[in-house]
Amino acid sequence: MSDFFSVISTTKGVRSGILKFRDGTEVTTPTFMPVGTRGAVKSMSPELVKSTGSGILLANTYHLHLSPGGEVVKAGGGTSKWMNWHGPTLTDSGGFQVYTLGKIRKISEEGVKFRNPVNGDTIFLSPEKSIQIQHDLGADIIMAFDDVVDLHNERHRQREAMERTHRWLKRCVTEHERLLKLNFPEGDGPKLFGIVQGGLSKELRMESLEFIQSQAVDGIAIGGLSVGETREEMHEMLEFLADKFDDSPRPHYLMGVGHPVDMRKAIECGIDMFDCVLPTRNARHSSVWITGDEQISLKAERFKLSNEPIEVGCDCYSCVNNFTKSWFRAQYKANEPLAGALAGVHNLRYLQRLCEGYRSK
Ligand SMILES: [Zn+2]
Repeated sequence: MSDFFSVISTTKGVRSGILKFRDGTEVTTPTFMPVGTRGAVKSMSPELVKSTGSGILLANTYHLHLSPGGEVVKAGGGTSKWMNWHGPTLTDSGGFQVYTLGKIRKISEEGVKFRNPVNGDTIFLSPEKSIQIQHDLGADIIMAFDDVVDLHNERHRQREAMERTHRWLKRCVTEHERLLKLNFPEGDGPKLFGIVQGGLSKELRMESLEFIQSQAVDGIAIGGLSVGETREEMHEMLEFLADKFDDSPRPHYLMGVGHPVDMRKAIECGIDMFDCVLPTRNARHSSVWITGDEQISLKAERFKLSNEPIEVGCDCYSCVNNFTKSWFRAQYKANEPLAGALAGVHNLRYLQRLCEGYRSK
């Protein structure tokens, strides 16, 4: 556990660190992880994604389990090889996606039963099942299966979900350790992260953080934020948690957050890792970030004759090769997917440059 992550320096709460993976790859933190939901970052080749300085790719267990199935990815050599990424990968547990199914899921202590939205089949996910699927998918970092609830649920449901998340974490750890012994006697298995829940209650968050940190996990994730609360509420919670992390050398991962304003705040509160579909999804809808976290639409009329790149001075593939705003505007109007992909390169690079600005030189 100790050589997986090390903090090189901490300045005013900002941590600069290194993640070391079993294939020898090192990823410096803070870092942003692009999302390759079903085994691809939409319309972007692995080379383009790598050119943004991204080191870890995320894939969704829920989607890959439904199609094509963990066994298919396993037969293809695991997420990294199958996606032709050839670098570290992280899979989520499926807990969040199951939560978004709303009424068509049924939660019990054993796990969650739901209907496959595609073909109507009944599917059951439990902590053990999620860990088994993630071991099949073969990512380098896997996530505990958690019970995610709506922030507006009543307090007793928030507590119930948090306590269940804690009980489920113990089951995840037990199953993970069983599979590690079975398949990785050399000790080069995947790393398991626990997830802190507790909604917007500081009391519950504190209790959850203390519990997760007391468990045999390799990383601490903060879940259940960026799900509809205000920016102020999210930032207040990050500030609250900032000085509550223990000194163990474990990375802090804020799940589902990828807006530069929120990332800056989180990094200043001791967060090391992020993931979100926002930069690539925004790009597909023509929205990009430029200096000062300003968001502009490349479809704007004022760019019709602009022969400038998205952001003068940006070192991303798209800006360096001078794909102009005039070109982007025309391609978006023609529904050409290359525009979204190349704007996605810029947005990902924007977030990686933001992260690099906080790292030790
Ligand atoms: Zn750029």
